[in-house]
Amino acid sequence: MKSVYERVIARDPDQPEFHQAVEEVLDSLAPVIEDNPDYMDVVMGMVEPERVMQFRVPWYDDDGKLHVNRGFRVQFNSAIGPYKGGLRFHPSVNLSILKFLAFEQVFKNSLTGLPMGGGKGGSDFDPKGKSDSEVRRFCQSFMSELWRHIGADLDVPAGDIGVGGREIGYLFGMYRKLANEFTGVLTGKGISYGGSLIRPEATGYGLVYFAREMLSAKGKSFDGATVAISGSGNVAQFACEKVLDLGGKPVTMSDSGGYIHDPTGIDRDKLSWIMDLKNKSRGRIKEYAERFDGVEYTESEPEPNLNKLWGTKVDVALPCATQNEINGDEAKMLVDGGAIAVAEGANMPCTPEAVEVFLKNGILFAPGKASNAGGVATSGLEMSQNSLRMSWSREEVDQKLEGIMVNIHKNAFDTAERYGMPGNYVAGANIAGFLKVAEATTAQGIL
Ligand code: NDP
Repeated sequence: MKSVYERVIARDPDQPEFHQAVEEVLDSLAPVIEDNPDYMDVVMGMVEPERVMQFRVPWYDDDGKLHVNRGFRVQFNSAIGPYKGGLRFHPSVNLSILKFLAFEQVFKNSLTGLPMGGGKGGSDFDPKGKSDSEVRRFCQSFMSELWRHIGADLDVPAGDIGVGGREIGYLFGMYRKLANEFTGVLTGKGISYGGSLIRPEATGYGLVYFAREMLSAKGKSFDGATVAISGSGNVAQFACEKVLDLGGKPVTMSDSGGYIHDPTGIDRDKLSWIMDLKNKSRGRIKEYAERFDGVEYTESEPEPNLNKLWGTKVDVALPCATQNEINGDEAKMLVDGGAIAVAEGANMPCTPEAVEVFLKNGILFAPGKASNAGGVATSGLEMSQNSLRMSWSREEVDQKLEGIMVNIHKNAFDTAERYGMPGNYVAGANIAGFLKVAEATTAQGIL
């Protein structure tokens, strides 16, 4: 296992996020390889993407000035189905980040029980502060290359950071024109052109369903629990809504500028105000503190200072912004504040040191590849509806999503027990996700 990890580092020494994601999985797989040494060959193949595309994305801004961004698509593993995973538009996007996300996606998609392989893509383009026309021109240019690499039975991208309903609409329109066909090639589409009800809500709702299962396994619940949420985008907003449904009290939200702490709780009216702020006027979370009384706003500090959001005294923490947003010291702050559970809404928001702190202190910890799988699972349901040329009701999709999250929890919980690590959802999710892909890879011959 060590030799596989060393080879990954030696091949791409400048990809720290990818190394981090691989190391965590390899650590978990040791007992599986002990049981079945033949799976070592599968592991060697699994750390190398099947295909990586990088391309130029030129576009003109409203002043007629040319910009040239970079576009990527990482098609990591298709052993159990077409590549599936989101597109991220953010200035920090590079191959290391996309390979880490695509690698995680392989295990996550396997855990959903649906036939989806793993991929991820995006660009270092920053939609923040751009006009709708600029975003449209960028999306059209991006798709003018991506379209030849994707397809409803080949690779089906979705949204991620910086890619919401607006971007998916522009991307889909361009694909349809270029390919001259109307197929379910993207998920997260608008309802009027093949989208699924509940897809926008799915990651946040699914996260809270998973956390509810985890709490319930210890005889606890969201009822009356104080909850810290980071981020204020798609995942954070709907996690907040589901926490309210289950009787919890969300008290924080953030964006890259800083975080708000509302000790009286973010209720439904305030959440609806945040949704308008973020999804319509594209404002900053700081404005919440100007709008509502008794709210504290704390500006983000440049690294290496601590993010004080995690010093808020809460029962449950749901990091829903981005990778590596809780380090070891911030994890200690949560433990000292009395938190009993942490569930990742974002991908890899907790560093390995943070995860160690949680596990050592007996905090219930849900890794993103299990707890945020509701988004891609519902994308899978969108693909099924597109293939059937049918639309299911809100209740139908929500019920299926809830069922999938309950199953993922059970699968991760039982697998951890079976391999002698009870309560370790990291190991349980990694092993359960791996076993299905390993079996499929072996059956097909390692290609
Ligand atoms: P959005 O773009 O809708 O929201 C992202 C939020 O996180 C914003 O509030 C943003 O603030 C904040 N944020 C982003 N980058 C940083 C940063 N470097 N520092 C501080 N804050 C930051 O994205 P999503 O809600 O869709 O995604 C959030 C996370 O969830 C990501 O890790 C994504 O990979 C993961 N995820 C998303 C799924 C989905 O279905 N959307 C599915 C599974 C996982 P600002 O606006 O200031 O940048």
